[in-house]
Amino acid sequence: MNLQALIVEDDLAVQSFLQTLLQSQNFTVQTTSSGQQCLQLLCNQNVDLVLLDLGLADLDGQLVLQQLRQWTAVPVIVISARGKEQDKIQALDSGANDYITKPFSAGELLARIRAALRQHQGSVQTLQFGDVEIDPIQRLILKNGTPLHLTKTEYDILLLLLKHAGSVLTHNQILRQVWGEMYQGRPEYVRVHMATLRQKIEDNPATPQFIKTEAGVGYRFSH
Ligand code: CA
Repeated sequence: MNLQALIVEDDLAVQSFLQTLLQSQNFTVQTTSSGQQCLQLLCNQNVDLVLLDLGLADLDGQLVLQQLRQWTAVPVIVISARGKEQDKIQALDSGANDYITKPFSAGELLARIRAALRQHQGSVQTLQFGDVEIDPIQRLILKNGTPLHLTKTEYDILLLLLKHAGSVLTHNQILRQVWGEMYQGRPEYVRVHMATLRQKIEDNPATPQFIKTEAGVGYRFSH
């Protein structure tokens, strides 16, 4: 499965250069020139790498970095025309994995991307419950050693439940995180996908061991 990269850059020439470069390395690429949209995309989608410019039209890149670090460990490489030491220190202190100054060479950027992804992979552990194992980097799920084929929605729901294991998630919390704000009040979406997810991960979906229903409220993941 291709890694997903998000390029946040308001200089369209640089944006297009980065897009072509990453696509040549088999990344699936999304681009935006807006810091606000970057945060929304990170909320709603799986992203494996962010290239972030600091001088954006709507939000300063430093602020985008601080905000996204409140909830995601996705590798972020800052690419900026700001070469001052203080800008670099601030970005790295705010959680950037690396900082590269424009102009930069394609080879150096790709080497830094590889390093950031390696470092991130080393820090992410395989998740496990019962006989199910999840590798969040490869998005590979094994049950009793056999690969399980989850849809993107099922996968997103499972990871959300695992992240909040032990706590109840309401239908609306799940809808907001997995589908987005506009789907609130549609619990039937959750029910349908929860049923197919249980079919895949539970030994006995009728009496689930892991995904418990909290009647009238939502769901709770239990190890
Ligand atoms: Ca810029």
